[in-house]
Amino acid sequence: VKKNGKNGYQFFSCELNAQVEQRVELEADLRRALERGEFLLHYQPQIRADDESIIGVEALVRWNHPTKGILPPGMFVPVAEDTGLIMELESRVLYEACRQMQSWHESGAPLISVAVNLSSHQFYHSSLTQQIKDVIEQTGLEAKYLELEITESLMMNPEVSSTVLKELANLGIRISLDDFGTGYSSLSYLKKLPINKLKIDRSFIQDIAHNDSDKAIVASIIDMAHHLNLNVIAEGIETKDQLEILSQHNCREVQGYYFSRPLPASELERVYLHP
Ligand code: C2E
Ligand code: CA
Ligand code: CA
Ligand code: CA
Repeated sequence: VKKNGKNGYQFFSCELNAQVEQRVELEADLRRALERGEFLLHYQPQIRADDESIIGVEALVRWNHPTKGILPPGMFVPVAEDTGLIMELESRVLYEACRQMQSWHESGAPLISVAVNLSSHQFYHSSLTQQIKDVIEQTGLEAKYLELEITESLMMNPEVSSTVLKELANLGIRISLDDFGTGYSSLSYLKKLPINKLKIDRSFIQDIAHNDSDKAIVASIIDMAHHLNLNVIAEGIETKDQLEILSQHNCREVQGYYFSRPLPASELERVYLHP
């Protein structure tokens, strides 16, 4: 920015100007979308490696845009985070995920769990525990079927995290550490905090069939999880080779395109819940 006389600043770069405009537009568009309820969830199955049965789903948000079609979260979640709209978006995601799972349970589907992604905004917001309590009450979903996926980077602030995590654990919901292995944080929190599951990041799985270092890292994470009495799931499995290596190393839960892409609710139901 360049100083423009005494009444403020002016962007001197047209490119920057265009970027800012685009963002402002996107923000307004997001607000409209929230009002109109244009967001929906897709569900990706989480699979038991030995018999390939479904044990849960991860809820992943999509924007059903009136002109651009279905947009993935990478195109709007960052802006939603920057503008604070993420709070509203996530509370709807949370409600819808629990409502949908409860409705599946009531219809006689297997009693599987639903995992919901939580941003750091939401995690550190003072009303999180109350909000979760409310959602559980309103939807009737049993707490143990709700899992929150938070990233390992939140553990860099263990004093704050531990208070929130203990409150959540008291509600009976489960906590999974997403993108595990990419967070550069100390591992000491693992023995102190009520965490249920490690989710091994896709970046370690990608080349696992050809890269011995990745294989060693993944094997170590799995062993460590088992020694600490934690569940472990690997994400981003795309090939049979990857699945076989993970199974050899006793990883019992897996998720990835090899089994299924994230699916609209109706399709997940048709393929996995009432086949
Ligand atoms: P994530 O939580 O790490 O979710 C996994 C992403 O990997 C999803 O992308 C999923 O579709 C994709 N994926 C699953 N299996 C495979 C595979 O085998 N290969 C490859 N290449 N990709 C696979 P998606 O749905 O685009 O979500 C991207 C990110 O957006 C998520 O990463 C998560 O961080 C964020 N996100 C999604 N939904 C929400 C939400 O409701 N709230 C928040 N705060 N973030 C969300
Ligand atoms: Ca996730
Ligand atoms: Ca992840
Ligand atoms: Ca990831």
